[in-house]
Amino acid sequence: MSLPDSESPLTAHEAEALVARAVDAGRLERPPAERLGANLHVEGVREAVLAGAHASKLAAKGDVVTVSRNIFVPLTNLCRDRCTYCTFAKQPGSPEAKSYELDEVREAVRGGVLTGCIEALMCLGDKPEVAYRVHREWLEARGWGSTTDHLVEACRVAFEGGMLPHTNAGILDEQELAALRPWNASMGLMLETTSPRMRDKGMPHMHCPDKDPQVRIRMHEHAGEQKIPFTTGMLLGIGENVVERVDTLMVIRDLQDRHGHLQEAIIQPFHPKPDTPMRAASPLRDPEVAGWVAMARLILGPEMNIQAPPNLVQSPTGADDGMLELLLRSGLNDWGGVSPVTVDFINPEAPWPALRELRRRTEAAGQRLLERLPVYPETVQQREFFDSQVWERLPRFANDAGYARPSKGGNSQSGEEAA
Ligand code: SF4
Repeated sequence: MSLPDSESPLTAHEAEALVARAVDAGRLERPPAERLGANLHVEGVREAVLAGAHASKLAAKGDVVTVSRNIFVPLTNLCRDRCTYCTFAKQPGSPEAKSYELDEVREAVRGGVLTGCIEALMCLGDKPEVAYRVHREWLEARGWGSTTDHLVEACRVAFEGGMLPHTNAGILDEQELAALRPWNASMGLMLETTSPRMRDKGMPHMHCPDKDPQVRIRMHEHAGEQKIPFTTGMLLGIGENVVERVDTLMVIRDLQDRHGHLQEAIIQPFHPKPDTPMRAASPLRDPEVAGWVAMARLILGPEMNIQAPPNLVQSPTGADDGMLELLLRSGLNDWGGVSPVTVDFINPEAPWPALRELRRRTEAAGQRLLERLPVYPETVQQREFFDSQVWERLPRFANDAGYARPSKGGNSQSGEEAA
């Protein structure tokens, strides 16, 4: 029986030809993407994909790799969804369940400003008040009708405290996006995957109404209609196959073609965590992760900002396994948010590398590490993407090229390594 075309073996030479055509055209199309993706386990094919993606990145982004110095505010770790790989979400009653008071947000922001952070990353569970009466009461006691009301106030506190919020709160409707826009420089939602299979019985998103791919695509559309600089991304290795990965990247590309608001695509590998139903699942091997970062560059094109979080791709044991160097030749141009103050509350087992170390290794690979705002330099200069009060705030943080600049205030270490 013959193999379907997408799974038929490829030689390194054939892969080089497919990649060269994609780099020349500025984008990799679906059939060759499926074929290359199915053969990424072949070293010669993977190397061809990496080389093409790196050349594409160098042509459009030069030798710059960016990073955003941030604080991480896990506004509430209650969530109505139950993704089987998640350790962030807690049940109400758990000693680890926590929702931030505004004074606690204020305190975290103060620490961020003192250590030169610009971005206040608001990260929280999805609609906990729908699932938990106790959380509805917690909100009501503070005069809020929903988690979004709480979030709007937290973003206001962070903005007025001298930072630029970036919100990642799960599914938000058009009115909620509009209420958050005046206090946020950017927002985001990982598309994660377009595969509806992930919601089937026994799959990771079975008990997650907010992980319906169509619902997530719709929120991307709404953000596009409101001109919100938006971060998206793909979650790698939760059970999706090659065709589904390529489809996810194709949908991201289509959204960007139609709205132009996607400022970055994160390629985030799944990490099995103890005490979760997926603790025994096998994650993708590091070279394959790098291969999919490169595939994202080739599919999404040279202008897209491609991010792989450095704390999720280096060995969880902390061993220096060369993964950052591999990624630095895979076409990425961003390391995401790195905090000198707070841990990654979503992946607390994976510490962020120190900015100094990230800079050293980026430079050793022949590239430059520059700090950015939550929004990328090319977006910083586009008025249509910002509410007027955010637009007026941007020059305080951005230099003429749109990168983070040292300021006279507490954010004075931007562009430099924190002590
Ligand atoms: S939606 Fe997010 S916070 Fe909620 S369970 Fe899933 S991964 Fe965890």
